[in-house]
Amino acid sequence: MTDRQVHDVVVIGGGVVGVTLARTLARYHLDVVLLERDAEVGFGVSKANSGIIHSGIHADPDTVKGSLEWPGNVGWLSLRDELGFGFAQVGELLVALSEDELPTIDRLHAQGERKGVPGLERWDQQRVRRHQPNLSREVIAALWAPTAGVINPYEAVLLIAESATRNGVEVATGEPVTAIDPPDPADQDAPIVLRTPMRTLASRYVVNAAGLYADEVARMAGVGTFTISGRKGEEYLLDKRLAGLVTSIIFPCPTATSKGTLVTPTFDGTIMVGPTAEATDDKHDTATTPEGAAEVFEAAGRLVPGIDERDVIAEFAGVRAVADTDDFVLGTTHRRGFLNAAGIQSPGLTAAPAIADHLLEVLREEGLELIERADFAPRLEPPVRFGVLPTEEQAALVHRDPRFAQLVCRCELVTEAEIVDAIDRGARTLDGVKFRTRAGMGRCQGGSCTWRCIELLADRRGQAITEVTKRGGGSWIVCDRDDVDAAPQPPPSPVAAPPAAAPTDEVTPMSRDRGEVSRHADHP
Ligand SMILES: Cc1cc2nc3c(=O)[nH]c(=O)nc-3n(C[C@H](O)[C@H](O)[C@H](O)COP(=O)(O)OP(=O)(O)OC[C@H]3O[C@@H](n4cnc5c(N)ncnc54)[C@H](O)[C@@H]3O)c2cc1C
Repeated sequence: MTDRQVHDVVVIGGGVVGVTLARTLARYHLDVVLLERDAEVGFGVSKANSGIIHSGIHADPDTVKGSLEWPGNVGWLSLRDELGFGFAQVGELLVALSEDELPTIDRLHAQGERKGVPGLERWDQQRVRRHQPNLSREVIAALWAPTAGVINPYEAVLLIAESATRNGVEVATGEPVTAIDPPDPADQDAPIVLRTPMRTLASRYVVNAAGLYADEVARMAGVGTFTISGRKGEEYLLDKRLAGLVTSIIFPCPTATSKGTLVTPTFDGTIMVGPTAEATDDKHDTATTPEGAAEVFEAAGRLVPGIDERDVIAEFAGVRAVADTDDFVLGTTHRRGFLNAAGIQSPGLTAAPAIADHLLEVLREEGLELIERADFAPRLEPPVRFGVLPTEEQAALVHRDPRFAQLVCRCELVTEAEIVDAIDRGARTLDGVKFRTRAGMGRCQGGSCTWRCIELLADRRGQAITEVTKRGGGSWIVCDRDDVDAAPQPPPSPVAAPPAAAPTDEVTPMSRDRGEVSRHADHP
């Protein structure tokens, strides 16, 4: 099908960068389309990271990423106020474990001040201990940066995309860009023509925010001047019983390629440890490994000795998109109208609002007319979080809608009404429900609520249970018994099957292929 209209801007990729840009563009009288390959927005690296809005001190201000880190931090405050996702400025402590590390603290202190980051303080050992009594006794000093925060990155991306949609952007999921036509030599001003499996689109401007695949998309457009390689990071989430172990983000002194292994109090009260930083040739490699776990727990234990691998309730890995310049690749290309937002490695989550503002200015300079819309609605009614409300408010909600009395996720106290609302707001998959409501994110990792979430998704979306997927594509959860019976059976194994293992509570390190995984083997 050919979409005959010429759009003003097509954004390729619905990660934090793409959706934030799309919402920024929604403030103006423009026809904007966002094309996302996955079943929902935010299922790329934007959901698989440490969830930190960095204080602003870390990246070198002489790089593009460094220049956008602090303005990005500031941008998140207004986004949070308008959209109501989970974001708390808990501050960070960058700690020195030896005299050798003190110059690094001083360098980052000076770098932060040069960038205009407020509130930085050098703390001595006693002050560090008063603030974080569970830190290692080896910590001799620290840099305190109060502007660092923790965010629910997937929730933020989903609400930013919802706000963009409500303000007129077409957010098309499950629609990958598969080809971009070469420019028309006879007509310099001709729009750029893009192809997806569903349609052909024409647009005056195209922004490539395709994350790990931005080099491939740039090549499609004939401007493949850079390559993206992967740098994997494994993360481990610990049980809520450890809530309060640390109340600010704890950073070690950085290495050449990474900020090191952090201990982070997440917005929802768990503790997260990680990430690793390992070069990988496989952009799909999101498996956690015993080696990664050993590295993370050894490094985390040096900062906070009470941390123990037996407290892990979930683990995942994300792959950073690292351009060969080791910096963000941002702005115009030699193809008129085609812009890149590529190589968005860390601190890409932090910088996203500033990346969007920067690209807006580049588009303006390139001739995009920006007329503000009087009817732009910046605010969004945030979803109800029943479990954190006072009893009187919970009672009022139950009175209004009895589905608030039906608890679906017992670990995170998520009700049927919240799950139905998430589906009505756009959840298409089990992960879409989980990231919007937290159903399945608690201690049992979906053991008790997965089935009910599948039923509600199928019912609300008019699907068969067997059509519901975990994250789109072929990630079905339930299959029809007839299909299983009809499937060809593997030949009998010459090796005798081991006896069934006795039920055990013992935690077994597991490695799965993608996304957040449970440590409990019976998780679907
Ligand atoms: C382990 C780890 C920890 C991190 N921690 C932090 C942190 O604490 N703070 C921080 O600031 N940053 C952090 N980062 C970095 C941050 O997560 C990324 O910089 C940011 O999420 C990048 O967003 P993006 O939109 O560029 O990419 P993505 O989220 O990957 O989005 C790109 C999208 O493009 C889509 N796409 C690809 N090809 C096509 C196509 N052909 N057509 C349509 N769509 C396509 C993909 O499906 C994807 O959804 C971390 C990264 C990792 C890996």
